[in-house]
Amino acid sequence: MQELAGLVRAVPDFPTTGVLFRDVSPLLASASAFARCIDALAEPWQGLGVQAVCGIEARGFIFGAALAQRLHAGFVPLRKPNKLPPPVLAVDYQLEYGSDRLEAQREAVRPGERVLLVDDVLATGGTLAAAAALADLLGAELVGASVVVELTALQGRTRWQQGTPLHSLLRY
Ligand code: 5GP
Repeated sequence: MQELAGLVRAVPDFPTTGVLFRDVSPLLASASAFARCIDALAEPWQGLGVQAVCGIEARGFIFGAALAQRLHAGFVPLRKPNKLPPPVLAVDYQLEYGSDRLEAQREAVRPGERVLLVDDVLATGGTLAAAAALADLLGAELVGASVVVELTALQGRTRWQQGTPLHSLLRY
């Protein structure tokens, strides 16, 4: 995990002043670190019958697609508005300033299908909570969620549903 942590770059004042952005690009660019990251993300879910990995746009697609392959599961993209052809289901959620929306294709998940949510970073937790609400709307059975980085000071975990596992690999 030390190797992985060393490949997440802290970028001050990005995308706006006062924000310390965690950049996972160096981790992705390392063949060995990326492979170890996917191994570690997969580990808690082996044998739990995950049928689909839902990756959150955009970096959740990268980790999620690789993880889906490792878990022998399908991949479902949860996207920003107006990217997917209809019919879609959508969940709106609040950001610090304004709001955003996640969409999924209505037929992307079969009712009762066992899904796992994946994103690169858990910050305030709004995005992951919206993804969980969308999985619910799709009729999926939510097995849990995994993120590569958890920014603990922002307490995103408090917005996650009790009793459903949420794993993070690196915590800052
Ligand atoms: P939240 O909704 O938890 O506040 O924000 C999480 C979402 O914003 C994730 O989809 C994540 O990609 C993005 N995000 C927020 N902060 C960071 C950060 O420091 N680094 C990266 N790579 N993504 C971030």
